[in-house]
Amino acid sequence: MIIWFATGNEHKRRELAAILAGHSVKIPSDAGIAFDPDETGGAFLENAFIKAHALFELVREPVVADDSGLCVDALGGRPGVYSARYGGVDGGKLTSSERNALLLKEISGAGGIAVRRTARFVCAMALVLSKDRFFVAQETLEGEIISEERGARGMGGFGYDPIFFLPERGCAVAELSEQEKNRISHRAKAARAIGKMLETI
Ligand code: IMP
Repeated sequence: MIIWFATGNEHKRRELAAILAGHSVKIPSDAGIAFDPDETGGAFLENAFIKAHALFELVREPVVADDSGLCVDALGGRPGVYSARYGGVDGGKLTSSERNALLLKEISGAGGIAVRRTARFVCAMALVLSKDRFFVAQETLEGEIISEERGARGMGGFGYDPIFFLPERGCAVAELSEQEKNRISHRAKAARAIGKMLETI
């Protein structure tokens, strides 16, 4: 089956195509479609729906869309849906390492040494088959914001991976191989759930 994925990110396409093996995963740019809807939702699932329905209107074939981010308990779940824009002023964007440094600083300000560092990556994914027929999955990767003495580490992944620590592995997500991250990530788990739904339709 042809599945359209509402992303401009080739890396994400490869990741989804590997999980939805047997299906042909296309992205808007394959068909010369300029696709950049405003993610105005207050929840991951809302944004995934905005993207999925917007692309469905254009292609009229099954669409998958996702939205993800980092939720930090000590910050009441922030940056959440604003993860990509965290710390930006007047629409300007920080680099990933500036954003990570700011988050470490904000979390220390949130409660000193005893601050709760638990956090999770969240990914909501929607499979839209028609305007009125859809399936959704939302998955997490649980961990902690790395301690100041460990500091940001690792060269892999992207975004918050260097400051997202996995206590049971004793390393940051950015220190995992790409294959290992793709096995345990919030996005991979949501994609596998969507893959199972696809088998049933
Ligand atoms: P999007 O869903 O691809 O738009 O991701 C939103 C933002 O959440 C990204 O720009 C990152 O800042 C953050 N994020 C989502 N998933 C990950 C991840 O696997 N590692 C690190 N940061 C992530």
